[in-house]
Amino acid sequence: MAKLTIDDLDLKSKKVLVRVDFNVPIKNGVIGDDNRMVAALPTIKHIIEQGGKAILFSHLGRVKTEEDKKELTLRPVAEHLAELLNKPVTFVPATRGAQLEDAINNMNDGDVLLVENTRFEDLDGKKESGNDPELGKYWASLGDVFVNDAFGTAHRKHASNVGISEAMKAAGKKAAAGYLLEKEIKFLGNAVDNPAHPFVAILGGAKVSDKIGVINHLIDKADKIIVGGGMTYTFYAAKGIKIGKSLVEEDKIDLAKEIMDKAGDKLVLPVDNVCATNFKNDAPSKIFEGDIEDGYMALDIGPKSVELFKNVLKDAKTVVWNGPMGVFEMPNFAKGTLEIGKFLGTLTDATTIVGGGDSTAAVKKLGVADKLTHISTGGGASLEYLEGKTLPGIAAVSDK
Ligand code: AMP
Repeated sequence: MAKLTIDDLDLKSKKVLVRVDFNVPIKNGVIGDDNRMVAALPTIKHIIEQGGKAILFSHLGRVKTEEDKKELTLRPVAEHLAELLNKPVTFVPATRGAQLEDAINNMNDGDVLLVENTRFEDLDGKKESGNDPELGKYWASLGDVFVNDAFGTAHRKHASNVGISEAMKAAGKKAAAGYLLEKEIKFLGNAVDNPAHPFVAILGGAKVSDKIGVINHLIDKADKIIVGGGMTYTFYAAKGIKIGKSLVEEDKIDLAKEIMDKAGDKLVLPVDNVCATNFKNDAPSKIFEGDIEDGYMALDIGPKSVELFKNVLKDAKTVVWNGPMGVFEMPNFAKGTLEIGKFLGTLTDATTIVGGGDSTAAVKKLGVADKLTHISTGGGASLEYLEGKTLPGIAAVSDK
């Protein structure tokens, strides 16, 4: 990797500032899915083992009012992290000032400290989200080195990832990628820029407009692009296939035509669909091949499409998947997504990557996550990566 990584740093007795992504769901002080925290443990444990002092920064939710602070404190996250690490974690309920500085100065080698939600700084003129240069500079002044391990926010240009990196570099100090960031870049980067062929992309989810950047970027790189989910029916409309009351983006039909012309037989669409009379799990449903009857909406791909997609996927060496094949949240319309997920799990010769967001939720809910090579921790970030965009959080890390 062309970027400096945590393995390039001497961490002994160093104050190591780390941007993690601890933006986890919390209800009544209890953490829901802690996957993002678990994903950051290798970096934190490495710093502890090397005798560094780990000073962690993260955002949590969106802080718009003073009131939001009660709900969005990172205190429960610090407590949960202490359990995961099986060692004390000092929580500092401040994002700047004497309390934070004293706590850092009192750290011993191998200690871990978590700073309060970086977005508390947004109440005072969007300092965090607006990448206020003074804030980045101040945070950078608190440490000897910076490690960015927050892939989930890498597509954002905030003070706690980009500002701090720039300020470290300006001060002659280093900004490196942590293990999670390195892993995400390795898998997503290789898949997009240097894939083993055949390379098949599976794109689903609600809207064409959300995935258009990915389709355009992958059209020349992938050998096949499988389309499923709600965006299918805008392509159907472009082909003149009847779609009943299925989801459609009227203003994207011309674009869908352009994509089909450009992609030719690279683009693989479903041939049958599970359609219902209403957007409800227990609504009466029917499978249609091709034209969908008036009064029905397509909510999942049908069994023939599953077989067609499996056939396209069976020899793949690289698979990138973003977006479910249907309304997987409803059990009666989860089958297409489940079948594709399960089949990916059997492709032991292929690198199988799930690119964040709803597809990650889907493979976890369906219990196939551990059979796949890599599940990205970033929704928006992985999508932008697949679109070929430069992610500011990664760009700001020091070059090797
Ligand atoms: P995205 O965030 O773009 O990946 O979209 C995910 C959402 O698309 C999920 O909430 C799915 O329920 C929804 N979705 C997938 N297929 C369909 C469909 N055929 N009709 C309506 N919504 C769908």
